[in-house]
Amino acid sequence: MTYQEVHCNASFNTEGAIFMGANRISKGCKVGIFGVPYDGTTSFRPGARFGPSSIREVSSSLETYCPQLDLDLESLAFADFGSLKIPYGAPEAVVNEVNKATQYLLALGIRPLILGGEHSISVGAVNATAQENPDLILLQLDAHADLRKEWLGSTHSHACSMRRCLEVLPSKQIFQLAIRSGTREEFQELKDQNQLIPHIHGQPATYLEKALMPHLGKAIYLTVDLDWFDPSIMPGTGTPEPGGFFWQDFAAIIDVLKKHNLVAADIVELSPQLDHSGISSILAAKATRSLVMLLSTCT
Ligand code: MN
Ligand code: MN
Repeated sequence: MTYQEVHCNASFNTEGAIFMGANRISKGCKVGIFGVPYDGTTSFRPGARFGPSSIREVSSSLETYCPQLDLDLESLAFADFGSLKIPYGAPEAVVNEVNKATQYLLALGIRPLILGGEHSISVGAVNATAQENPDLILLQLDAHADLRKEWLGSTHSHACSMRRCLEVLPSKQIFQLAIRSGTREEFQELKDQNQLIPHIHGQPATYLEKALMPHLGKAIYLTVDLDWFDPSIMPGTGTPEPGGFFWQDFAAIIDVLKKHNLVAADIVELSPQLDHSGISSILAAKATRSLVMLLSTCT
């Protein structure tokens, strides 16, 4: 096993595949990927711990060139740090490690892209990113509102991930994009706080563009819970929810975000072994490619 010890006390396991086109050396890189193989609070079907390695393994089946963005990973300076070494068990210690690793990348001037793992890990990264960017806006793609105060006895359950993120977000500004599952109370809050980007009568990206317009130039953190996609193209996730979105909807959101200042992102909730066709991992890898490019070119 090869371990790369880093000065922030967070350390990464670089064993196994590397994301296509990535460097292991972070010097001169603008974007850095790291995995968080954790699924300790998953409420229905576990397996998200295998997400980061699966995304890396299948990435080489895609081209490094993206016609939509007219960019090639081969000509971008980005690093794959490997997967974070995390303690198994309760989520608090894992969130703490994610926080430290995110701080470390930001201190190097590198925009972090975190591969989950389950959604409960996001708060560590959002917390560290908000320390650097007090006006940080959070944008969530997800089937679920994730606004529960606690779930199955844990305040760090993935069903509470956005509640925890709001607690560490000084701006309290969150946009929850086309959420389609939650409790009556969660939906009431989405409406009352004007957080919900609707998707009825059209593309969610059109509504997002309008909602983000007053926030041009502000730092944005994007969290992508892969169950936002329709289960027909993303069956490999722990809590699939019918009525989701397709690649074109995601591509339209990427086009909207091109005009904005994306400073960090995560892609979570891929459970590759739940999808024997492997298309879920390929979709996640393609989304990773888009976000590496977006983070590389955002000003
Ligand atoms: Mn979800
Ligand atoms: Mn979620």
